[in-house]
Amino acid sequence: MGLKLYNTFSKHEEDFVPLKEGVVSMYTCGPTVYGRPHIGNYSSFLMADLLRRWLETGHGYAVTHVKNITDVGHLIADADTGEDKVEKQAKTEKTDPLAIAKRYTEQYLEDEKALNMREPQERPRATQYVKDMVAIIRTLLAKGNAYETEDGFYFSVETFPAYGKLSGNTLDKLDAGARVAIDEAKKHPADFALWKKCVARNSHHLLRWSFESGERSKTEGEDASSGFPGWHIECSAMSARILGTEIDIHTGGEDNIFPHHECEIAQSESANGHRFVRFWLHKRRIDLAGEKMSKSLGNVLSVPTVVEKGYSPQDLRYYLLSVHYRTNLKFSWKGMDDARDSRRSICEWMERGGEPASEGTKKLPSVFSADIQKFDADFSLAMDTDLNVSGALAAIHNCMHKTNASTMADSKASMALQKFIEKIRNTFGCFDAASEGEIPAAVQELVDVRAVAREQKDFKESDRLRDEIKKMGYEVRDEMKEQKIKKL
Ligand SMILES: [Zn+2]
Repeated sequence: MGLKLYNTFSKHEEDFVPLKEGVVSMYTCGPTVYGRPHIGNYSSFLMADLLRRWLETGHGYAVTHVKNITDVGHLIADADTGEDKVEKQAKTEKTDPLAIAKRYTEQYLEDEKALNMREPQERPRATQYVKDMVAIIRTLLAKGNAYETEDGFYFSVETFPAYGKLSGNTLDKLDAGARVAIDEAKKHPADFALWKKCVARNSHHLLRWSFESGERSKTEGEDASSGFPGWHIECSAMSARILGTEIDIHTGGEDNIFPHHECEIAQSESANGHRFVRFWLHKRRIDLAGEKMSKSLGNVLSVPTVVEKGYSPQDLRYYLLSVHYRTNLKFSWKGMDDARDSRRSICEWMERGGEPASEGTKKLPSVFSADIQKFDADFSLAMDTDLNVSGALAAIHNCMHKTNASTMADSKASMALQKFIEKIRNTFGCFDAASEGEIPAAVQELVDVRAVAREQKDFKESDRLRDEIKKMGYEVRDEMKEQKIKKL
């Protein structure tokens, strides 16, 4: 059986076969860099990372992964009107938009590294691809899919009959629901901006380009000949430039389905005259205390916040991946604790490499390579079934239970186990051996105090300190007279 993925476009699980044999092109909508992304954003990026790892590890595909950075044109509330998120933040912090983009891009990359995400082949920034965007808009104008108004260029949704197919927001429903604010200049309320001119409320926009040349424009104030791209056109342009006009997979959060991805499809397919994306995958949102985790609601958690509470980024990675990507994860600290314990028990099992969990005098049964291969096959089958992580984790736990209470029958069994463990490590990316590194001073201090307690045979205090150290993300083990410290 091959890989099956749920395609948001067809609303079915489909067999995944790439366009070109052995090679997969994949585009992930990255962050808009106006603040530190929250763990809900990262859970979507982690889904893409897990999919990529499984394409590589489970199927041996060469994946070209592109993940953009939006540094201009994403307006408040994903709308066509209103302020640019990056420029608004620049005003708040009294600096310029490029400095804001740089600062939050750095934080974002730090978090991605901590969460052990594989580096994409390209991280295009929207501001570097404006010429490509202008070229697509010109094509759309020439083909009659776009029109000019006083304040910009708009895509005419009525020229694209398939509009609404991804999200279900077809034009009749949009008309009836009047979800989109009426703008007299638009031909249809659902028409969306491809380009905003620096006029009227946008006359103060700092980052601007000449629509004539696609070059950065130095003008200031009211200037209809310069402007900035709409958010949707950015992804259409960057994915076409780097991956070609038809790609295998496009991922994002469920929030991206509408309007962002619906509009990407309309623009790309109208401009290119053929299908844009073969598989659309979307990550469901994360809830915190019964509410959607979102920056606008102000109930967000960042990676550093979670780490400060004593969890490792790998614990967080495990937690965010442990719930299937099409299920809402209801974040709780209890869930975080359970995830930490579960991940660490898997790490310990991996480190034992097939040694039984406890030494006893009882003769243990043997485990054979065929037994291990069965768990391995169960794991792969689960991952192949639309990344069924619960099934994959069940296969790991079944293997743990078996090998914890058995001895390896022979070297073939040991090799099968090593192979399986390697596959799990590469797929999940959160069971890597902890790096030794420096022990933080605060942890070392507790370890020293504990050494004294041990000398004085104050075992109660010694145990208390061990727990204290564990809370800080370190494990202390007593070996003979020494204490061994390990990062969890
Ligand atoms: Zn996008």
